[in-house]
Amino acid sequence: MKKLGAASLLLVAGAASAATQTVDCGRLLDVKAGVWREKVTVHIENGSVKAIEPTKGKGDVDLSAMSCMPGFIDMHVHLTGQTQPQVEALRGQLTLDAADRAYDSVAFAERTLKAGFTSVRDLGASEGLNIAMKRAINSGAIVGPRMFTGGKTIATTGGHGDPSNGKSREERHVHGTPGPMEGVINSAEEARQAVRARYQEGADVIKITATGGVLSQASSGMNSQFDDEELKALIAAARDYGFKVAAHAHGTEGMKRALKAGVDSIEHGTFMDDECIALFKKNGAWFVPTISAGRYVADKSREPNYYSPLVRPKAAAIGPQIQGTFARAYKAGVKIAFGTDAGVFPHGENAKEFAYMVEAGMPALEAIRSATLNAASLLGQSNRLGSLEAGYAADIVAVAGDPLKDITLLQKVGFVMKEGVVYKQ
Ligand SMILES: [Zn+2]
Repeated sequence: MKKLGAASLLLVAGAASAATQTVDCGRLLDVKAGVWREKVTVHIENGSVKAIEPTKGKGDVDLSAMSCMPGFIDMHVHLTGQTQPQVEALRGQLTLDAADRAYDSVAFAERTLKAGFTSVRDLGASEGLNIAMKRAINSGAIVGPRMFTGGKTIATTGGHGDPSNGKSREERHVHGTPGPMEGVINSAEEARQAVRARYQEGADVIKITATGGVLSQASSGMNSQFDDEELKALIAAARDYGFKVAAHAHGTEGMKRALKAGVDSIEHGTFMDDECIALFKKNGAWFVPTISAGRYVADKSREPNYYSPLVRPKAAAIGPQIQGTFARAYKAGVKIAFGTDAGVFPHGENAKEFAYMVEAGMPALEAIRSATLNAASLLGQSNRLGSLEAGYAADIVAVAGDPLKDITLLQKVGFVMKEGVVYKQ
Protein backbone atom coordinates (compact mmCIF):
# COMPACT_ATOMS: atom_id res chain seq x y z
CA MET A 1 0.00 0.00 0.00
CA LYS A 2 1.10 3.51 -0.74
CA LYS A 3 1.11 6.39 1.66
CA LEU A 4 -2.12 6.95 3.48
CA GLY A 5 -4.06 9.65 1.62
CA ALA A 6 -6.73 11.66 3.41
CA ALA A 7 -9.43 9.98 1.29
CA SER A 8 -8.41 6.39 1.98
CA LEU A 9 -8.54 6.54 5.73
CA LEU A 10 -11.16 3.95 6.53
CA LEU A 11 -9.18 0.89 5.70
CA VAL A 12 -10.88 -2.49 5.51
CA ALA A 13 -9.99 -5.42 7.70
CA GLY A 14 -6.75 -6.99 6.71
CA ALA A 15 -5.36 -3.94 4.97
CA ALA A 16 -1.65 -3.75 5.50
CA SER A 17 -0.24 -0.64 7.12
CA ALA A 18 1.64 1.71 4.87
CA ALA A 19 5.33 0.91 5.10
CA THR A 20 6.15 4.46 6.13
CA GLN A 21 3.78 7.25 7.06
CA THR A 22 3.61 10.34 9.21
CA VAL A 23 0.92 11.56 11.60
CA ASP A 24 0.86 15.24 12.65
CA CYS A 25 -0.47 15.71 16.19
CA GLY A 26 -1.55 19.09 17.58
CA ARG A 27 -0.17 17.69 20.79
CA LEU A 28 0.82 14.27 21.98
CA LEU A 29 0.70 12.95 25.52
CA ASP A 30 4.03 11.73 26.83
CA VAL A 31 2.45 9.37 29.36
CA LYS A 32 5.75 8.65 31.12
CA ALA A 33 6.64 12.31 31.73
CA GLY A 34 3.00 13.28 32.14
CA VAL A 35 3.22 16.25 29.77
CA TRP A 36 1.84 17.25 26.38
CA ARG A 37 4.36 17.67 23.58
CA GLU A 38 3.04 20.40 21.28
CA LYS A 39 2.98 20.12 17.45
CA VAL A 40 4.82 16.87 16.84
CA THR A 41 4.89 14.39 13.96
CA VAL A 42 4.90 10.66 14.57
CA HIS A 43 7.02 8.83 11.99
CA ILE A 44 5.78 5.29 11.49
CA GLU A 45 7.47 2.39 9.79
CA ASN A 46 5.92 -1.08 9.39
CA GLY A 47 3.41 -0.50 12.15
CA SER A 48 5.92 0.80 14.69
CA VAL A 49 6.85 4.28 15.81
CA LYS A 50 10.22 5.19 14.32
CA ALA A 51 10.58 8.69 15.76
CA ILE A 52 8.60 11.58 17.15
CA GLU A 53 9.82 14.98 16.02
CA PRO A 54 8.61 18.59 15.90
CA THR A 55 6.24 19.02 12.93
CA LYS A 56 7.81 20.39 9.74
CA GLY A 57 5.55 20.68 6.70
CA LYS A 58 2.55 18.42 6.15
CA GLY A 59 2.29 14.77 7.17
CA ASP A 60 0.10 12.01 5.73
CA VAL A 61 -2.49 12.21 8.50
CA ASP A 62 -3.55 15.59 9.82
CA LEU A 63 -4.40 15.53 13.52
CA SER A 64 -3.03 19.03 14.03
CA ALA A 65 -6.25 20.06 15.79
CA MET A 66 -6.30 16.96 17.99
CA SER A 67 -4.76 15.60 21.19
CA CYS A 68 -2.99 12.28 20.52
CA MET A 69 -2.44 9.51 23.06
CA PRO A 70 -1.23 5.93 23.01
CA GLY A 71 -4.04 3.46 22.22
CA PHE A 72 -5.93 2.44 25.35
CA ILE A 73 -5.77 -1.01 26.90
CA ASP A 74 -8.75 -2.57 28.69
CA MET A 75 -7.48 -5.33 30.96
CA HIS A 76 -10.85 -6.97 31.54
CA VAL A 77 -13.32 -7.59 28.74
CA HIS A 78 -15.43 -10.46 27.46
CA LEU A 79 -15.62 -9.76 23.73
CA THR A 80 -17.62 -12.86 22.85
CA GLY A 81 -20.78 -12.03 24.76
CA GLN A 82 -22.88 -9.10 25.88
CA THR A 83 -25.45 -8.42 28.57
CA GLN A 84 -29.09 -9.15 27.84
CA PRO A 85 -32.26 -9.73 29.86
CA GLN A 86 -32.49 -13.21 31.40
CA VAL A 87 -35.28 -14.34 29.06
CA GLU A 88 -33.20 -13.56 26.00
CA ALA A 89 -30.16 -15.17 27.54
CA LEU A 90 -32.05 -18.38 28.28
CA ARG A 91 -33.55 -18.46 24.81
CA GLY A 92 -30.06 -18.04 23.39
CA GLN A 93 -28.73 -20.94 25.46
CA LEU A 94 -31.46 -23.19 24.05
CA THR A 95 -31.44 -22.12 20.43
CA LEU A 96 -28.03 -20.75 19.52
CA ASP A 97 -24.71 -22.44 18.80
CA ALA A 98 -21.22 -21.23 19.54
CA ALA A 99 -20.99 -20.22 15.89
CA ASP A 100 -23.95 -17.84 16.35
CA ARG A 101 -22.23 -16.23 19.32
CA ALA A 102 -19.02 -15.94 17.33
CA TYR A 103 -20.76 -14.07 14.50
CA ASP A 104 -22.57 -11.80 16.95
CA SER A 105 -19.33 -10.89 18.65
CA VAL A 106 -17.58 -9.65 15.49
CA ALA A 107 -19.37 -6.31 16.00
CA PHE A 108 -18.30 -6.18 19.67
CA ALA A 109 -14.63 -6.37 18.71
CA GLU A 110 -14.96 -3.63 16.12
CA ARG A 111 -16.87 -1.35 18.49
CA THR A 112 -14.19 -1.78 21.14
CA LEU A 113 -11.38 -0.86 18.78
CA LYS A 114 -13.27 2.16 17.45
CA ALA A 115 -13.82 3.35 21.01
CA GLY A 116 -10.03 3.77 21.23
CA PHE A 117 -9.09 0.45 22.82
CA THR A 118 -6.33 -0.90 20.63
CA SER A 119 -5.50 -3.77 23.03
CA VAL A 120 -7.64 -5.82 25.40
CA ARG A 121 -7.24 -8.70 27.78
CA ASP A 122 -10.20 -11.03 27.33
CA LEU A 123 -10.77 -12.85 30.60
CA GLY A 124 -12.98 -15.74 29.74
CA ALA A 125 -15.20 -17.32 27.13
CA SER A 126 -16.43 -20.84 26.52
CA GLU A 127 -15.87 -23.05 23.47
CA GLY A 128 -12.57 -21.33 22.69
CA LEU A 129 -14.41 -18.37 21.19
CA ASN A 130 -12.03 -15.70 22.46
CA ILE A 131 -8.99 -17.58 21.20
CA ALA A 132 -10.58 -18.03 17.77
CA MET A 133 -11.43 -14.33 17.77
CA LYS A 134 -7.83 -13.42 18.52
CA ARG A 135 -6.72 -15.51 15.55
CA ALA A 136 -9.34 -13.89 13.29
CA ILE A 137 -8.17 -10.40 14.31
CA ASN A 138 -4.51 -11.28 13.88
CA SER A 139 -5.11 -12.70 10.41
CA GLY A 140 -7.12 -9.64 9.38
CA ALA A 141 -10.35 -11.62 8.86
CA ILE A 142 -12.18 -9.30 11.27
CA VAL A 143 -11.52 -5.87 12.80
CA GLY A 144 -10.76 -5.65 16.49
CA PRO A 145 -8.24 -4.77 19.17
CA ARG A 146 -5.03 -6.70 19.77
CA MET A 147 -6.16 -9.48 22.08
CA PHE A 148 -4.55 -11.25 25.00
CA THR A 149 -6.87 -14.00 26.17
CA GLY A 150 -7.41 -16.29 29.10
CA GLY A 151 -9.33 -18.83 27.01
CA LYS A 152 -11.75 -20.49 29.41
CA THR A 153 -11.67 -19.30 33.03
CA ILE A 154 -10.70 -21.83 35.67
CA ALA A 155 -13.37 -22.43 38.35
CA THR A 156 -14.47 -25.18 40.74
CA THR A 157 -17.73 -27.15 40.64
CA GLY A 158 -20.66 -24.78 41.11
CA GLY A 159 -18.22 -21.87 41.12
CA HIS A 160 -18.24 -18.69 39.06
CA GLY A 161 -17.44 -19.96 35.56
CA ASP A 162 -18.71 -23.54 35.89
CA PRO A 163 -20.62 -23.81 32.59
CA SER A 164 -23.11 -26.28 34.10
CA ASN A 165 -24.43 -23.78 36.69
CA GLY A 166 -28.15 -23.09 36.51
CA LYS A 167 -28.84 -26.18 34.41
CA SER A 168 -31.41 -28.82 35.39
CA ARG A 169 -30.21 -32.22 36.62
CA GLU A 170 -31.37 -33.64 33.32
CA GLU A 171 -29.38 -31.10 31.31
CA ARG A 172 -26.32 -31.77 33.43
CA HIS A 173 -26.83 -35.49 32.88
CA VAL A 174 -27.01 -35.06 29.09
CA HIS A 175 -23.97 -32.78 28.89
CA GLY A 176 -21.85 -34.53 31.51
CA THR A 177 -19.81 -32.98 34.27
CA PRO A 178 -17.33 -30.34 33.09
CA GLY A 179 -13.73 -31.08 34.03
CA PRO A 180 -10.30 -29.45 33.71
CA MET A 181 -10.51 -29.29 29.91
CA GLU A 182 -13.67 -27.16 30.30
CA GLY A 183 -12.03 -25.15 33.09
CA VAL A 184 -13.55 -26.85 36.15
CA ILE A 185 -11.22 -28.35 38.75
CA ASN A 186 -11.55 -29.92 42.19
CA SER A 187 -8.00 -30.81 43.19
CA ALA A 188 -4.41 -29.71 42.79
CA GLU A 189 -3.94 -32.35 40.12
CA GLU A 190 -6.87 -31.02 38.11
CA ALA A 191 -5.60 -27.47 38.63
CA ARG A 192 -2.37 -28.37 36.87
CA GLN A 193 -4.29 -30.10 34.09
CA ALA A 194 -6.54 -27.07 33.57
CA VAL A 195 -3.58 -24.69 33.27
CA ARG A 196 -1.88 -27.01 30.79
CA ALA A 197 -5.11 -27.25 28.79
CA ARG A 198 -5.15 -23.43 28.52
CA TYR A 199 -1.56 -23.55 27.27
CA GLN A 200 -2.57 -26.15 24.71
CA GLU A 201 -5.57 -24.15 23.47
CA GLY A 202 -3.49 -21.00 23.00
CA ALA A 203 -4.30 -18.79 25.99
CA ASP A 204 -2.01 -15.88 26.95
CA VAL A 205 -2.96 -15.55 30.61
CA ILE A 206 -4.68 -17.68 33.27
CA LYS A 207 -7.94 -16.41 34.72
CA ILE A 208 -9.27 -18.00 37.89
CA THR A 209 -12.48 -17.25 39.77
CA ALA A 210 -11.32 -17.08 43.38
CA THR A 211 -14.77 -16.24 44.77
CA GLY A 212 -18.38 -16.35 43.68
CA GLY A 213 -19.48 -13.86 41.05
CA VAL A 214 -22.48 -11.69 40.30
CA LEU A 215 -23.74 -13.10 37.03
CA SER A 216 -23.35 -16.84 37.68
CA GLN A 217 -26.49 -18.82 38.51
CA ALA A 218 -25.36 -19.53 42.07
CA SER A 219 -26.41 -18.13 45.41
CA SER A 220 -23.20 -16.47 46.63
CA GLY A 221 -21.09 -13.84 44.96
CA MET A 222 -18.68 -13.85 47.86
CA ASN A 223 -17.66 -17.34 48.99
CA SER A 224 -14.11 -18.65 48.53
CA GLN A 225 -14.00 -21.17 45.72
CA PHE A 226 -10.50 -22.64 45.82
CA ASP A 227 -8.53 -24.11 48.70
CA ASP A 228 -4.88 -23.18 49.25
CA GLU A 229 -3.59 -26.38 47.71
CA GLU A 230 -5.51 -25.78 44.48
CA LEU A 231 -4.32 -22.17 44.31
CA LYS A 232 -0.73 -23.18 44.90
CA ALA A 233 -0.91 -25.76 42.10
CA LEU A 234 -2.60 -23.32 39.72
CA ILE A 235 0.05 -20.69 40.20
CA ALA A 236 3.01 -23.08 40.09
CA ALA A 237 1.73 -24.57 36.82
CA ALA A 238 1.04 -21.11 35.38
CA ARG A 239 4.61 -20.03 36.16
CA ASP A 240 6.01 -23.08 34.35
CA TYR A 241 4.36 -21.84 31.15
CA GLY A 242 5.13 -18.16 31.63
CA PHE A 243 1.51 -17.24 32.34
CA LYS A 244 0.42 -14.41 34.57
CA VAL A 245 -2.61 -15.18 36.74
CA ALA A 246 -5.66 -12.93 37.03
CA ALA A 247 -8.06 -13.70 39.86
CA HIS A 248 -11.68 -12.64 39.90
CA ALA A 249 -12.59 -11.90 43.55
CA HIS A 250 -15.39 -10.12 45.40
CA GLY A 251 -15.23 -11.75 48.86
CA THR A 252 -12.47 -10.92 51.33
CA GLU A 253 -11.27 -14.39 52.28
CA GLY A 254 -10.99 -15.68 48.69
CA MET A 255 -9.15 -12.49 47.72
CA LYS A 256 -6.66 -12.98 50.56
CA ARG A 257 -6.01 -16.58 49.62
CA ALA A 258 -5.41 -15.59 46.01
CA LEU A 259 -3.08 -12.73 46.97
CA LYS A 260 -1.13 -14.93 49.38
CA ALA A 261 -0.78 -17.58 46.68
CA GLY A 262 0.81 -14.91 44.45
CA VAL A 263 -1.69 -13.96 41.74
CA ASP A 264 -0.66 -11.04 39.52
CA SER A 265 -3.98 -9.21 39.57
CA ILE A 266 -7.27 -9.11 41.41
CA GLU A 267 -10.29 -8.32 39.26
CA HIS A 268 -13.19 -6.39 40.91
CA GLY A 269 -11.77 -6.68 44.46
CA THR A 270 -15.08 -5.57 45.91
CA PHE A 271 -14.76 -6.39 49.61
CA MET A 272 -11.08 -5.54 49.91
CA ASP A 273 -10.11 -4.89 53.55
CA ASP A 274 -6.93 -3.37 54.99
CA GLU A 275 -5.24 -6.75 55.19
CA CYS A 276 -5.95 -7.27 51.47
CA ILE A 277 -4.52 -3.83 50.72
CA ALA A 278 -1.36 -4.70 52.65
CA LEU A 279 -1.05 -7.96 50.68
CA PHE A 280 -1.45 -6.12 47.37
CA LYS A 281 1.37 -3.80 48.31
CA LYS A 282 3.63 -6.49 49.75
CA ASN A 283 3.33 -8.67 46.62
CA GLY A 284 3.16 -5.89 44.02
CA ALA A 285 -0.16 -7.28 42.80
CA TRP A 286 -2.36 -5.16 40.53
CA PHE A 287 -5.96 -4.16 41.10
CA VAL A 288 -8.26 -4.10 38.05
CA PRO A 289 -11.36 -2.31 39.35
CA THR A 290 -14.17 -2.73 36.74
CA ILE A 291 -16.25 0.13 38.21
CA SER A 292 -18.28 0.22 34.97
CA ALA A 293 -19.55 -3.32 35.52
CA GLY A 294 -20.41 -2.57 39.14
CA ARG A 295 -22.45 0.46 38.22
CA TYR A 296 -24.21 -1.27 35.36
CA VAL A 297 -25.31 -4.34 37.36
CA ALA A 298 -26.43 -2.12 40.25
CA ASP A 299 -28.64 -0.17 37.78
CA LYS A 300 -30.03 -3.29 36.17
CA SER A 301 -30.77 -4.90 39.55
CA ARG A 302 -33.47 -2.25 39.96
CA GLU A 303 -35.30 -3.60 36.88
CA PRO A 304 -37.60 -6.42 38.05
CA ASN A 305 -36.86 -9.03 35.36
CA TYR A 306 -33.48 -8.18 33.91
CA TYR A 307 -31.56 -10.68 36.05
CA SER A 308 -32.67 -14.05 37.44
CA PRO A 309 -33.85 -14.26 41.08
CA LEU A 310 -30.45 -15.72 42.03
CA VAL A 311 -28.44 -12.97 40.32
CA ARG A 312 -30.51 -9.90 41.18
CA PRO A 313 -29.72 -9.62 44.92
CA LYS A 314 -26.01 -10.18 44.24
CA ALA A 315 -26.00 -7.41 41.64
CA ALA A 316 -27.71 -5.10 44.12
CA ALA A 317 -25.28 -5.91 46.96
CA ILE A 318 -21.96 -6.03 45.08
CA GLY A 319 -22.39 -3.58 42.20
CA PRO A 320 -22.62 -0.34 44.18
CA GLN A 321 -19.51 -1.15 46.30
CA ILE A 322 -16.85 -1.23 43.61
CA GLN A 323 -16.35 2.49 43.03
CA GLY A 324 -15.84 3.06 46.77
CA THR A 325 -13.37 0.19 46.93
CA PHE A 326 -11.48 1.74 44.03
CA ALA A 327 -11.29 5.10 45.83
CA ARG A 328 -9.84 3.45 48.98
CA ALA A 329 -7.39 1.28 47.06
CA TYR A 330 -6.11 4.22 45.02
CA LYS A 331 -5.65 6.36 48.12
CA ALA A 332 -3.79 3.53 49.84
CA GLY A 333 -1.33 3.28 46.94
CA VAL A 334 -2.42 -0.03 45.39
CA LYS A 335 -1.21 -0.37 41.78
CA ILE A 336 -4.17 0.03 39.42
CA ALA A 337 -4.59 -1.20 35.85
CA PHE A 338 -7.63 -0.11 33.86
CA GLY A 339 -10.32 -2.74 33.31
CA THR A 340 -14.06 -2.58 32.80
CA ASP A 341 -15.56 -6.10 32.40
CA ALA A 342 -17.13 -4.96 29.11
CA GLY A 343 -19.70 -7.50 28.02
CA VAL A 344 -21.33 -7.19 31.44
CA PHE A 345 -22.37 -3.82 29.92
CA PRO A 346 -22.47 -2.96 26.18
CA HIS A 347 -19.16 -3.09 24.32
CA GLY A 348 -17.77 0.22 23.13
CA GLU A 349 -18.66 2.07 26.34
CA ASN A 350 -15.32 1.16 27.95
CA ALA A 351 -14.14 4.78 28.22
CA LYS A 352 -16.82 5.63 30.78
CA GLU A 353 -14.52 3.91 33.26
CA PHE A 354 -12.08 6.85 32.99
CA ALA A 355 -14.79 9.23 34.18
CA TYR A 356 -15.76 6.89 37.04
CA MET A 357 -12.13 6.75 38.16
CA VAL A 358 -11.78 10.52 38.11
CA GLU A 359 -15.12 10.88 39.90
CA ALA A 360 -13.69 8.64 42.65
CA GLY A 361 -10.64 10.85 43.15
CA MET A 362 -7.99 9.76 40.64
CA PRO A 363 -6.39 12.55 38.58
CA ALA A 364 -7.13 12.32 34.84
CA LEU A 365 -3.47 11.69 33.99
CA GLU A 366 -3.33 8.74 36.37
CA ALA A 367 -6.52 7.31 34.87
CA ILE A 368 -4.95 7.50 31.39
CA ARG A 369 -1.75 5.93 32.72
CA SER A 370 -3.77 3.07 34.18
CA ALA A 371 -5.00 2.26 30.63
CA THR A 372 -1.60 2.71 28.99
CA LEU A 373 1.62 2.37 31.01
CA ASN A 374 0.11 0.34 33.86
CA ALA A 375 -1.92 -1.98 31.68
CA ALA A 376 1.10 -2.62 29.44
CA SER A 377 3.15 -3.47 32.51
CA LEU A 378 0.58 -6.01 33.75
CA LEU A 379 0.45 -7.49 30.25
CA GLY A 380 4.24 -7.85 30.25
CA GLN A 381 4.33 -5.58 27.15
CA SER A 382 6.04 -2.52 28.57
CA ASN A 383 8.55 -2.30 25.74
CA ARG A 384 5.93 -2.38 22.96
CA LEU A 385 2.60 -1.02 24.23
CA GLY A 386 1.25 1.77 26.45
CA SER A 387 3.44 4.64 25.26
CA LEU A 388 4.23 6.48 22.04
CA GLU A 389 7.98 6.50 21.46
CA ALA A 390 10.47 4.93 19.09
CA GLY A 391 10.12 1.15 18.93
CA TYR A 392 6.54 1.06 20.25
CA ALA A 393 3.49 -0.11 18.29
CA ALA A 394 1.91 2.70 16.28
CA ASP A 395 -1.32 2.57 18.30
CA ILE A 396 -2.66 6.13 18.34
CA VAL A 397 -5.96 7.55 19.50
CA ALA A 398 -6.92 11.20 19.30
CA VAL A 399 -9.66 13.44 20.66
CA ALA A 400 -10.58 17.08 20.20
CA GLY A 401 -9.88 19.15 23.33
CA ASP A 402 -7.88 18.41 26.46
CA PRO A 403 -8.85 15.15 28.19
CA LEU A 404 -6.70 16.07 31.20
CA LYS A 405 -9.20 18.88 31.81
CA ASP A 406 -12.34 16.98 30.71
CA ILE A 407 -11.95 13.22 31.01
CA THR A 408 -15.33 12.56 29.35
CA LEU A 409 -13.74 13.59 26.02
CA LEU A 410 -12.23 10.10 25.97
CA GLN A 411 -15.75 8.80 25.31
CA LYS A 412 -15.63 10.63 21.96
CA VAL A 413 -12.48 9.32 20.35
CA GLY A 414 -12.21 10.76 16.83
CA PHE A 415 -9.23 8.84 15.51
CA VAL A 416 -7.97 5.29 16.02
CA MET A 417 -4.85 3.71 14.56
CA LYS A 418 -3.64 0.23 15.49
CA GLU A 419 -0.23 -0.95 14.40
CA GLY A 420 -0.07 1.75 11.72
CA VAL A 421 -3.53 1.06 10.26
CA VAL A 422 -6.26 3.69 10.60
CA TYR A 423 -9.64 2.30 11.70
CA LYS A 424 -11.46 5.50 12.52
CA GLN A 425 -11.20 9.10 11.45
ZN1 LIG B 1 -15.28 -10.63 33.89
